[in-house]
Amino acid sequence: MANLSRRAFFTRLKATPEVANPFRPPWTSEQRIEDKCTGCFECVKACPEGILFSDDNRPYLKPGVGECTFCEACASACPEEGLFDLTQTPWRLTAELKQEACLLHKGVSCRSCTDCCDPRALRFDLRAAPVGQIQLDADQCNGCGACLVACPVDAISLNDQSNMNQETLANA
Ligand code: SF4
Ligand code: SF4
Ligand code: SF4
Repeated sequence: MANLSRRAFFTRLKATPEVANPFRPPWTSEQRIEDKCTGCFECVKACPEGILFSDDNRPYLKPGVGECTFCEACASACPEEGLFDLTQTPWRLTAELKQEACLLHKGVSCRSCTDCCDPRALRFDLRAAPVGQIQLDADQCNGCGACLVACPVDAISLNDQSNMNQETLANA
């Protein structure tokens, strides 16, 4: 909570639902949240990146606010045994790129997203005219969300590939 003002922190604990099908914190599932979450929001308070919020008494991730570093602080802070399962992959979120919205599609040079993508799921392809194109390898994407923060024109969103949540949240 070190980086959050008091007002910003309580904004994150709002009880009013904001999104219909929110993305949940890493290493959780909709079912385990439903079964085990008491609404204590220790995970929300523990997240150093400030990307977890509360909604309708449940924690959720807000894409585009910041990057998940997979630091496990949320999982460590949760007092409910088995709600976070660190033996599983964190989630099935992957980036989705709208080429027509990208600055490169308009002939403007930009590589902000490739510069911040540690797994190199986003790569710059110079062969595409006139100034190149971004290629996304979804299999390499870990859903960290860094590219959403970096993109100046909201050309990238996160998709939930699991069956529990099919909704796309574009910088919600
Ligand atoms: S793993 Fe770390 S950065 Fe990601 S949601 Fe949990 S506390 Fe936040
Ligand atoms: S979400 Fe993270 S891993 Fe995936 S493309 Fe964006 S920066 Fe790369
Ligand atoms: S950061 Fe956005 S505008 Fe820039 S290259 Fe990536 S997708 Fe295109």
